[in-house]
Amino acid sequence: MNFEPARHYWLPTPSPDSGVFARHAFRGRRWERQSADTTVCGVEVAMATPTDLDWVTAPTCADCNRTLRELS
Ligand SMILES: [Zn+2]
Repeated sequence: MNFEPARHYWLPTPSPDSGVFARHAFRGRRWERQSADTTVCGVEVAMATPTDLDWVTAPTCADCNRTLRELS
């Protein structure tokens, strides 16, 4: 799949398996409040407004980070 590195945003979302939050990258300019989307690293996740705590505690997804770095 082809996407521009500048057109992405980050959002903490829970893992569909464990429910543990991680900050994933998504294609697009910003979250449009859709209820689910596919991360840059290829996981389909449910989306909801993250709490401040989610932003602070959710680790950055290494796969998303690496993918975006390779594109830039
Ligand atoms: Zn990811």
